[in-house]
Formats: sequence, C-alpha cells, structure tokens
Amino acid sequence: MDKLFPSTFPEPTTQLSLLGLRDDRDWADLAEELQARFAYYQGLTPTLAQMSPTPTTLLKHKAHLYGIYDSKSKLATEIKNAVIQLYKRRCPYCGVPTAPTTIDHFVPRAEWAEFAFYSLNLIPSCYDCNHDKGTQVWESDGRRKFINPFYDAFLSIRFFGFEVIPDAQLGFDDPVFNLTYSQTLTVAERATVADHFRLLGVENKITAFIRSRVKVIRRRYRREICDQTLTVQALGDDLRKDVEAEAAVNGVNSWMAIAVRTILDNPTYLNFIATEPIH
Ligand SMILES: [Zn+2]
Repeated sequence: MDKLFPSTFPEPTTQLSLLGLRDDRDWADLAEELQARFAYYQGLTPTLAQMSPTPTTLLKHKAHLYGIYDSKSKLATEIKNAVIQLYKRRCPYCGVPTAPTTIDHFVPRAEWAEFAFYSLNLIPSCYDCNHDKGTQVWESDGRRKFINPFYDAFLSIRFFGFEVIPDAQLGFDDPVFNLTYSQTLTVAERATVADHFRLLGVENKITAFIRSRVKVIRRRYRREICDQTLTVQALGDDLRKDVEAEAAVNGVNSWMAIAVRTILDNPTYLNFIATEPIH
C-alpha cells in the first residue's frame, strides 16, 4: 500500500548505510562512530527535536562523508534506490500525487555530514518541496518546523481538513477553504503542521486541487444536474464510496480523500454541488 505518510520507519533500509560502509576498508574505522550517531538520530523518536552537532571525530571527515552521497558508488546507488522505493506515487511532504523526482536530506547534510547517506534522513520529495524546505529544520526553541514522514505518527490519522466558507458575493461558486486541525494533535504537533503547510505552500496546493475536483464532479454529473435529477443523497452516497476506496489505497490524507471529505463534511456545499444549475 502506497500511503501518503507512512508512519513506520523504513526498516529494511536504515542499516544499509552502515553495512555498506563496513564493507569499505577505508571507512571501517569510522563505522562504530557512525553507528552511534545513527542510533542517536533514531533515538530522537518521536519528536526529532533539535539535534546535537556532529562530533569532532567525524567532523574532520566532513567532506568525505558529504561526498559519499554524490558519488556513483554502489553504496550510494543502493541507498538512493531503496529510498526511492518508499514513495512511488506522491510527495510525502505536500502530497502532490506524482512520483517524487528528488531526495531531500531532512537534516541538512551541509551541517550534519554524517547523515548525508543515512537512509532515515533521506526523504523522496517533489522538486518544489525540496527547494522550499531550506536548511532551517528547527525553531530556536528546538521545535521541528517540518513534518517528517518517518517520525510523525499522526500522519496515519486524518490530521487536518477544511471548512468551507461561502464568499460574500460569489457564495459557494468561489468559497474560502479554512484549514482545520484534528483535535488529537498536540499543541507542538499543530505548530509543526502549521509551519510545514505555510513554508511549503501545502494549503494552497490542496485547496486548488479541491476547486478542480469540484469542477470534475460537476462535469461528471452534468446531465443529471441540468435535468435536476441529482439528489444530495445520491451524490453523497457516491462520494462516500469514492473516499472509502481512495483512503484504502492512498491513505486518509491523500489530496483526493481530503477533497471529497471537505465536500461531504459541509452539507450546504454538497447541496450546492448537486443542485446549482450549470451555466
Ligand atoms: Zn512536495
């Protein structure tokens, strides 16, 4: 199953970095120190709060560690291929339903070179998210600013949604979509999601998608809407089936699932979509 945000660690790949390194005689001596750092990284579960600087023993190998990821070595290729397999259909940062084209270093490798090729630090990502994320992962108080698909357990629940507010003039022809958060999020999680959505423009991307979905749905039922034979009940039933099928395959937070739930959660909007004449 290809979920938008799997909440489990990529177990088969987390140790790959280290095993590959142990096979390389030039690096064997560093393997132990790296293992300690990898364990440290993994131990920051579940918050992945601000991490300590690279130990000086590893810092002097910074250029080499940094460079392993860029090399065409078997190790680098294997790690990248394993990571790419994790998300084949959507970007785990914004959810755009296309295959990620880049790999983001969640913790920037320029500052923490020991994690340059550590699989848990490598997140397949669309170009825009990778570009917009930048290098400042934490707030000054240590709180993380970005969702991490390997760390955030709330990603497997419906952690956000939209309420629909009619425009003063245009009504539901051009409504406002207000982001809402699940009550189960902690204050810190909520702040992280808000930062993530703002910094990566996720809210705009999804609301544009919802608008386009409404047009698609209205086109699909065009004949019934024109004949005034589409009931709110019938449309609601169809959409509920759609969202169940979608969530089973792509998770409850896929753009499609969010779009359809936004409609279903707002009876007035659903009524508008089912009955407003098409001009
Ligand atoms: Zn993205």
